[in-house]
Amino acid sequence: MSHLNDVQSIFQALGLNAPADSPAGLEVHTPIDGSLLARVDSTPATQVNTAIERAHQRSLSWRNVPAPKRGDLVRAFGEAVRRHKEPLGRLITLETGKIVQEGLGEVQEVVDICEFAVGLSRQLYGLTIASERPDHKLLETWHPLGVVGIISAFNFPMAVFAWNAALALVCGNTLVWKPSEKAPLCALALNGLLLQTAREQGLDTEGLAELLMGERSVGEALVAHPAVKLVSATGSTTMGRAVNIACAAQFKRSLLELGGNNAAIVCPSADLALVVRAAAFSAAGTAGQRCTSLRRLIVHRSIYAPLLASLRSVFERLPVGNPMEDGTLVGPLIDARAFEAMQLALTQAREVGALVHFGARESVGEADAFYVRPAIVELSSQSGPMVHETFAPILYVVPYDSFDEAIALNNAVAHGLSSAVFTQDLREAEVFTSARGSDCGIANVNIGTSGAEIGGAFGGEKETGGGRESGSDSWKAYMRRATNTINYGSTLPLAQGIKFEV
Ligand code: NAD
Repeated sequence: MSHLNDVQSIFQALGLNAPADSPAGLEVHTPIDGSLLARVDSTPATQVNTAIERAHQRSLSWRNVPAPKRGDLVRAFGEAVRRHKEPLGRLITLETGKIVQEGLGEVQEVVDICEFAVGLSRQLYGLTIASERPDHKLLETWHPLGVVGIISAFNFPMAVFAWNAALALVCGNTLVWKPSEKAPLCALALNGLLLQTAREQGLDTEGLAELLMGERSVGEALVAHPAVKLVSATGSTTMGRAVNIACAAQFKRSLLELGGNNAAIVCPSADLALVVRAAAFSAAGTAGQRCTSLRRLIVHRSIYAPLLASLRSVFERLPVGNPMEDGTLVGPLIDARAFEAMQLALTQAREVGALVHFGARESVGEADAFYVRPAIVELSSQSGPMVHETFAPILYVVPYDSFDEAIALNNAVAHGLSSAVFTQDLREAEVFTSARGSDCGIANVNIGTSGAEIGGAFGGEKETGGGRESGSDSWKAYMRRATNTINYGSTLPLAQGIKFEV
């Protein structure tokens, strides 16, 4: 299937029409060599509102479809995605520069969350609660919200949609998706496949899963529309802050999945071979462009020198190159701005006295593509650019002396997404995952910070936004909860024993 290297053949393999070239549309360039892939029309402001109103109308009937029947659509969609794993994965590579293995892994995540959601469609459990009154029943029931708005980032152009869509659909909501302007083709393909599946199931597709193309202003219009009951937004903290404020002003629900500045603590007892592998995948994989990428390594002073030597020798040899080619482990950065941000962070690190290894641009033969060798930056204390998220492959390393100090360093940044400890000491592992340990939404032991499974709730604290998506009971964010008290007696006893006789 290696012929699947261009937009036409990928869309053909998906059984979808390739997007029509629109001379005035959004230009989509591949980060592989900077060439133009397509020009995709933005959705005009008037059509944004029409699409949301269609989704609202559709939600009024979709909510009445029994949840297991809604699950049928998600099951069929997951199966269609599984059948088309190769073209979808290659489209991710083409549009975002992820290596093919990671593109395929992202598509697998779509399949996995669909399977999870199908099971969930028969498990949207409420509660019965003991009532304090005789002949009374107290219940908790869950109902669809209506329209769920999804705003997604460039770096997970399919999985983030699927995490939201699979759950939101079985929960009885309709969708309006505003994908990243840097990855509209992945959105056209995945949404196209969802609608194609719905048609094959004999469903009316109008308003079920609307797609809005465009830049930030389109996302702002989505957030502003009163029919959108939940905005699930994935991207930078700057974006999330704006969305959070806009939603709060409307008393609208938001589910925020924002930036991360993720750390791993390496203790004296750690298995260093395991640390090196985990750090290489977490820090250099996806060219450092995962929200969960490892950005800070907090290393006990006693093992600092040997670990640094091993890391340097691995980073020096990492195969940087065309992400379509077998053997490549590090593909390109998404664009020139990402490259400039990385170089600025390295300059700032040098200004605070850091020792910078690697990080320079690699020649992969293309002037308009930005390939870099992942950097290791040694600092004597956590300072300068280390305390901010730079969306690029930079691994800052600092030494520590006491475990409490290491935990304090882990927690001393604005974000709170992912974290890890490498240790064979049970106490350290337990403390790290306890109330006085990591303050992040994800706290791992002896595995890296990236590569979460869909079964757990995904998300983070502080400036990561506090949202939870994907597994566990994250589905509750896509429904509204009602408490129902039912009196099946013939008297009217009041709660708390209040007497009010008329
Ligand atoms: P970005 O914030 O630039 O854009 C994300 C999306 O938000 C895009 O669709 C964009 O058009 C839209 N947008 C921007 N401003 C908006 C506004 N004011 N109102 C409505 N929509 C707006 O992010 P990016 O560069 O595409 O992605 C990288 C960032 O995303 C990193 O910070 C990364 O950590 C984060 N991220 C987080 C997660 C997570 O689950 N926590 C997952 C992936 C990426």
